[in-house]
Amino acid sequence: MKKILIATKNKGKIKEFKEMLTPLGYEVQSLLDLKEEIEIEETGTTFEENAYIKAKAIYDLYHCDVISDDSGLCIDFFEGGPGVYSARWLGVDTSYDYKNNYILDKMKDSKDRKAQYVCCIAHINEEGSHEIYRGECIGEIALKPEGSNGFGYDPIFYYPPYQTTLANVSEEDKNTISHRGIALEKLLEGMSK
Ligand code: IMP
Repeated sequence: MKKILIATKNKGKIKEFKEMLTPLGYEVQSLLDLKEEIEIEETGTTFEENAYIKAKAIYDLYHCDVISDDSGLCIDFFEGGPGVYSARWLGVDTSYDYKNNYILDKMKDSKDRKAQYVCCIAHINEEGSHEIYRGECIGEIALKPEGSNGFGYDPIFYYPPYQTTLANVSEEDKNTISHRGIALEKLLEGMSK
């Protein structure tokens, strides 16, 4: 079985990748399975760069197949922000209730509510060559928070085809239309070639 390392400690992401890659014949491991403590700084200014930086740092240590992802919310009103800073924006420990209300307050008079979630997945193979897969989910910033599913900015991310926020959508449905779901699908297609 070919080993693949997922450059994350996020259990949700590990589970998702395991479910998708085990049937393709990969033995999936993550940073949680390694003996050493690895911290990788996201120093890039694009999702592509950050996904690659994380994958390359792990590849340089282990020289096996590595996957890493980076994602965030880009809002036109904030000139594409918080973007790659989505997790750190207004403070890593600041609640999303606060962050979401901050966005709604700043945008209360704005007609331009366009926003998109972006996810980039970098895959480096055993030989060291890499591919990056990008998924986008286009939506709008809602006028008020709604729903309790999902996480992060989902209560204020309005998805026009469903006429509601992503926090009102089931996990299963979200996976079929989300930035992460789309990038994962492209990754699987690329890896099964
Ligand atoms: P990372 O990809 O783990 O670095 O996380 C990026 C950050 O973007 C998360 O902490 C959230 O703030 C935001 N984000 C990314 N994807 C989603 C999503 O599907 N829903 C809500 N927030 C998200």
